[in-house]
Amino acid sequence: MSTEGIGVPLSAASPVRVCVVGARGRMGEAVRAALDEVPELTLAAALEAAGHPELGNELAPGVRLGDDPKAALAGCDVAIDFSLPAATLASLRVAAAAGVAYVTGTTGLSADERDELAALAQRIPVIHAANFSTAVNVLAWLTREAARLLGAGFDAELLELHHAAKRDAPSGTALRLAAAVAEGRGTTLEEHLVLERAGEIGARPAGAIGIQTLRGGDNPGEHVVQFVGTGERLELAHRSITRDHFARGAVRAAGWLAGRPPGLVPIEDVLGLHPAA
Ligand code: NAD
Repeated sequence: MSTEGIGVPLSAASPVRVCVVGARGRMGEAVRAALDEVPELTLAAALEAAGHPELGNELAPGVRLGDDPKAALAGCDVAIDFSLPAATLASLRVAAAAGVAYVTGTTGLSADERDELAALAQRIPVIHAANFSTAVNVLAWLTREAARLLGAGFDAELLELHHAAKRDAPSGTALRLAAAVAEGRGTTLEEHLVLERAGEIGARPAGAIGIQTLRGGDNPGEHVVQFVGTGERLELAHRSITRDHFARGAVRAAGWLAGRPPGLVPIEDVLGLHPAA
């Protein structure tokens, strides 16, 4: 993997020490593989759920799988977490007390959990992104601009497809893309989001932003944003084939974040993606 843009000085004497939270999950595995490609960051600790059957196993030289966030985060510079909302908040509280930077891609957080995450980010630097793929973040940028340029004459409908084991719906990325439509239109998602249609639903409300969820197989994630006009339709799509790009994006974000001042940092800052003038 290229180290360009990692954000860590190449001359750093000792690598940034990373704790992987959810280390034996699908994304945890991908993050550990991505860390192996980047000499500027190193796996220093690995956290899993209490009762995980592999606790105590050595995942890398000197790194045993543990279930104690305090012990795991001690001596780490940054955590990379893809787990469950409650696990993310529990580890984040410990990271805030220990002064450890935190990168998390866990989706499905409640409004209260998002509020607590933002409050904890006043004590440490935090990035919480629904999607760490550079291409998906470019898609969000394009979606916002398309919504802004197309205006009210085009209805916005989103489709997302994920593997059968995914717990939350719609995906955090679909919600992020729907929010991008709202941002482009100068409205709010809360006012216009439509998640379900069944029975006598009547005409489509003006300004609605629809999301349809599909689940099946082992698909790592597909998102299609459609702007449906009169006699024409614009479609913007992203399809993941592996999880590697999510993991590489999270590792890049961790290298960028370690050592920065406290605050909740948008992933757009890491990628240099800002609204078009
Ligand atoms: P997974 O179920 O394969 O992995 C989650 C892991 O977290 C499991 O190994 C589980 O045992 C572990 N875990 C549970 N409780 C824990 C605790 N208290 N402490 C430590 N670990 C604990 O799920 P996954 O497919 O890897 O996805 C994880 C999350 O990441 C989901 O919310 C998913 O939507 C999200 N995700 C985000 C991105 C992104 O780019 N932001 C990409 C893919 C997945």
